[in-house]
Amino acid sequence: MKSHYRAVVIGGGVVGASVLYHLAKFGWKDVCLIERKVLTAGSSWHAAGGFHALNADPNIAALQAYTIDLLSEIEQESGQSVGMHMTGGLTLAGTPDRWEWLQSAYRTFQSIGIDDCRLVTPQEAGELCPIMSTDGILGGMWADREGYVDTTGTVHAYAGAAKKRGAEVIENNRVLELHQVDGGWQVVTEKGTIHTEHVVNAAGLWAKQVGRMAGIELPVAPLNHHYLISDTIPALENLDFEVPMTVDLEGFTYMRQDQKGILLGIYEIDHEHWMVDGAPWEYGFELQQEDPDRIERELTLGFERYPDLQNVGVKTWVNGAFTFAPDGNPLVGPVRGKPGYWCACGVMAGFLQGGGVGKSLAEWMIHGEPEADVFGMDVARFGDYAQNKRFIKETTGQFYTRRFVMTYPNEQLPAGRPLKKAPAYDAMTDAGCQWGVSWGLEVPLYFAPSKDFVETPTLKRSNAFPIVAEECKTVRESVGLLDISGFSRFEVSGAGAEAWLNRVMASKLPSAGRARLAPMLSPDGRMKGDLTVFNWGDGTWWIMGSYYLREWHMRWFNDHMDSDVSVRDISDATVGFSLSGPNSRKVIEKLTDGPIADLPFMGCGTFDIGMLRCKVGRLSVAGELGYEIHCSAAEHITLRDTLLAAGAEFGMRETGFNALLSLRLEKSFGIWSAEFTQGYTAGQTGMDRWIDWNKGDFIGRDAAMKERNAGGPAQIIVTLEVDSFDADASGYEPVWKDGKRVGFVTSGGYGHTVGKSLAMAMVDRDAAAEGTDLTVHIVGQERPAKVIAPSPYDPSGQAMRG
Ligand SMILES: Cc1cc2nc3c(=O)[nH]c(=O)nc-3n(C[C@H](O)[C@H](O)[C@H](O)COP(=O)(O)OP(=O)(O)OC[C@H]3O[C@@H](n4cnc5c(N)ncnc54)[C@H](O)[C@@H]3O)c2cc1C
Repeated sequence: MKSHYRAVVIGGGVVGASVLYHLAKFGWKDVCLIERKVLTAGSSWHAAGGFHALNADPNIAALQAYTIDLLSEIEQESGQSVGMHMTGGLTLAGTPDRWEWLQSAYRTFQSIGIDDCRLVTPQEAGELCPIMSTDGILGGMWADREGYVDTTGTVHAYAGAAKKRGAEVIENNRVLELHQVDGGWQVVTEKGTIHTEHVVNAAGLWAKQVGRMAGIELPVAPLNHHYLISDTIPALENLDFEVPMTVDLEGFTYMRQDQKGILLGIYEIDHEHWMVDGAPWEYGFELQQEDPDRIERELTLGFERYPDLQNVGVKTWVNGAFTFAPDGNPLVGPVRGKPGYWCACGVMAGFLQGGGVGKSLAEWMIHGEPEADVFGMDVARFGDYAQNKRFIKETTGQFYTRRFVMTYPNEQLPAGRPLKKAPAYDAMTDAGCQWGVSWGLEVPLYFAPSKDFVETPTLKRSNAFPIVAEECKTVRESVGLLDISGFSRFEVSGAGAEAWLNRVMASKLPSAGRARLAPMLSPDGRMKGDLTVFNWGDGTWWIMGSYYLREWHMRWFNDHMDSDVSVRDISDATVGFSLSGPNSRKVIEKLTDGPIADLPFMGCGTFDIGMLRCKVGRLSVAGELGYEIHCSAAEHITLRDTLLAAGAEFGMRETGFNALLSLRLEKSFGIWSAEFTQGYTAGQTGMDRWIDWNKGDFIGRDAAMKERNAGGPAQIIVTLEVDSFDADASGYEPVWKDGKRVGFVTSGGYGHTVGKSLAMAMVDRDAAAEGTDLTVHIVGQERPAKVIAPSPYDPSGQAMRG
């Protein structure tokens, strides 16, 4: 062990070994991995080693596909067998909705280029897995590249390949303390102290403690998990192939062959956390006592699905722990305020995801940004609110129990809620508000006619469809009132504020009393934000964006900060309402004697609104005449009462974000996580039209200019009209032209004003011309679609400028 390394990876499980391998592979040779005991001594040694294609987040599914390809590569490089069994895999659907969902998932795979899957009938599924009963199965999906590996062999293969590339592995050496010092970290270990620029928390079951060593409270908790390995099953002895890795979603089990028996793993309905503050330091190769009583229901389903289990004994029980984040995805990336501290933890499927995690993190550390859009596993997708122990227990427990339970796109899950509530929450609930959640904050979805209204979970249009239609009509024809507490607000001030904004935003800055749309780019020209900048004219500026990106944006601002600028996140202290619709000016005029009628489109200023002093911007995401009115949290209830009272005579009613999503689609206004992501360039998304090419340097300028000079991107975003009658596109559905895949849907929904099913899609340029006939898979069914001109509602923008 040396006294200095460029990077130190803490933890010799599959994730740490993969990070080490990728660092060495991408060029950092002066790196080491420190392991408390021996490699695999956490969750990794007792894992079932299975890998499969499915993930609810297509970006993570793509990284899983990368991992699967990598496994044979590291075997070759290291000379260490990974014990690869590429058996192929089956995912089974046991209800009509699940079968439709699986057909949609199959199409999503096509969108992201995973083409080795096919749908199978119950009979085919039975032929592929002859020891399985097909009772109750409606269909399945087959994937060629699914199977299992030897877990210990795989960790040693990653580590061996890393060592061949110059990295070091130091075992039997616990990291005791971490100290942030000038230029990096001091890593105090049992065998001495190391100075390093970068430290990686890949401590698996101990990630919580290794976070705390740096003053970080990670939203992660371990849960117990059972599998059993059966004695020999005679039917398997007679087969000349291995049965596939099979996931029975409605049965809560996964199954793979293990020699001539099977391994049956269970996602436990009655889940059990284990050592939520982190595993004991002495813990290593022990397991927990099995508890068949607690998992009796799932076991019964498993024994019915694989009837041979009823005739043979259980050879081995495994009940071990592994870690989960609240949404089940890994926690990867840098932590705000802790330069050189990187996370690679909370990985609940390390053999499936470890390769992608290692690759992305190594790119991030070496090049400053990962290649893929990894927001779904970025540690900054959570904020301080997620440090609460009860929140972590509730949400990780919910994820675990529902791991194989179908979640509908319109379904609201209860764990960890309500957590943050804008002050008018109770009054809005009384008015029928149905709530969704964004980053712990309750946000209004729509206002139901009665408090007893229950929305039916569905993949198609729900019974809330007519309610949302009415809200859209209100906005288009009179005026809608929307609680906009669920936007982020950053206050920028200081002598260098303007210069800093000019550097981090790609757009021209607004003049005093104006607001402006501002794309924010990374140095490689990809999107970092679709923000709105306000110039209040008194030396303070606001940046407004998506509430759930608060920590992610704050980390970016911090990383690109100037010394004479202050950026404050005021999102919870400042809340507000928007008025949208032709009557909105009449409402606001009644409440102020200020020159509100003179406020131009995209103008902003401070006005008396009733008894309150508010900041007002004239803009509307719905594409109508509209005002966004901001007040302090203490004034939220009063502002709502004031606006409701003034709006009554103009037909005003409260509306929610479901209506806004439909209204913005009719204007072809993109939104983050759909049309805009960190995976796309400004040119692809059309946001380049807001770039100020003449203002001098800004972050991402060279890359954006290069794209422009090269004739623009290969794919762009278009608006589609879809011929669909009971369901709408939601995102990642493939788009076809003459049988060839030409792109995918970024978002979709029903345009209630134009009376059409609409979608926005990223398509090849030669499929982007207005009038091009295409098809789109909607809930698994191929439907005709056509490229239409952007903004099917009010294309000239008269309504919002009026
Ligand atoms: C029963 C069961 C079945 C599973 N089946 C599968 C499956 O089929 N497929 C799949 O992909 N995943 C499966 N998993 C999950 C898988 O085991 C984990 O995702 C994976 O092992 C996580 O790896 P890791 O490297 O993050 O953590 P770990 O394996 O826990 O490794 C962390 C390492 O860090 C070391 N460490 C911690 N603190 C320190 C310190 N202070 N100093 C030095 N070293 C330290 C530990 O000793 C440990 O070796 C299963 C898990 C269980 C429990």
